[in-house]
Amino acid sequence: MTSIVSRHLFGPGPTNAYPEATEGLARPLLGHLDPAFLAIMDETCEWLRAVWGTAQNRTLPLSATGSAGMEAAFVNTVHPGDVVVVAVNGLFGQRMCEVASRCGAEVVAVQHRWGSPVDPERVVAAHPAPAIVAAVHAETSTGARSDIAALGAAVRDAGDALLLVDAVTSIAGIELLADEWGIDIGYAGTQKCLGVAPGLAPFTISERAFGRRVERPRSWYLDLGLLGGYVGDAGPGPRARTYHHTAPVAMVSSLHAALGRILEEGLDNVWARHAAAGQALQDGLEAMGLELFADAGHRLPELTTVRVPDGVDSADVRRTLLERYDIEIGAGVGEFAASVWRIGLMGPNASPDAVALVLHALGDVLG
Ligand code: PLP
Repeated sequence: MTSIVSRHLFGPGPTNAYPEATEGLARPLLGHLDPAFLAIMDETCEWLRAVWGTAQNRTLPLSATGSAGMEAAFVNTVHPGDVVVVAVNGLFGQRMCEVASRCGAEVVAVQHRWGSPVDPERVVAAHPAPAIVAAVHAETSTGARSDIAALGAAVRDAGDALLLVDAVTSIAGIELLADEWGIDIGYAGTQKCLGVAPGLAPFTISERAFGRRVERPRSWYLDLGLLGGYVGDAGPGPRARTYHHTAPVAMVSSLHAALGRILEEGLDNVWARHAAAGQALQDGLEAMGLELFADAGHRLPELTTVRVPDGVDSADVRRTLLERYDIEIGAGVGEFAASVWRIGLMGPNASPDAVALVLHALGDVLG
């Protein structure tokens, strides 16, 4: 039998789970239509609204990872031939183009330099009347943070396109105000700042976007119209709670426990904790003479990208960190695979102890 290994997950995700989330996984299993479980599901949706910054009724955890959130976002809203403008400043913007095009969209990709934030003016100038404008709030591949409030305002000024946002790495880590910013369709993941294992995709959609949805999307599993019957978001009237699929009850319990913990700490405090840890890490790395990759002023606190110094073998350092310190950090993505490291301090790892540990370990390994 293989032995149990425990690591410090300081990469781009998954992160280590909050202890409450781990305890949530160990709760006694309930039937997925048990009233006791449905109460947990209802409260989970309620608490998800809080972390999304939305009052949108249709806010729920999809039973799959963040990429399924992306699929659900496009498959439910793209009608064949719709123009979808995608702001691309990293891997996940690129993935959006691929998913949107498979859903039949005419994709207009607005390319940005990797490491830079999305430029709202260029994005809205890319097409006079798109159906959807899509962007990634926190680009995990580069460590760049985009201003979704500004993008939302620009999109509203320009017309009536829906705003679709990837919040996988931003939710419960940095400010996220879906309603105030005009996010119509949003998806996230559990394995980053929410501090839960990978496996669920918190999702939210506005009435406006739901009203324009595809009536019979090509995906049965991700059909929001069908899912509403189970999650009980179908609007006023008795809640049907009909079977659609077997909800992953342990994962929902775990998310429920983590959300309870996050809201008890207070969202503002959670954001401040991530901001402080990220700043301390970035200051410490620069003090070691290392160069940060993402543009100054647009760096995510929860995911720091740093250039591998000349002459240093990136993979070798990551291997030594794992073997000597049980620390996982991430490689770069695409053309930056060997020249950038990605260090995540998310959820419970957004702490002074984690900052001190990773700085000490990296300093030791780099000599
Ligand atoms: N979007 C972003 C910004 C991500 O960081 C990720 C995963 O890292 C995804 C989407 C895809 O999520 P998953 O890997 O959970 O399917």
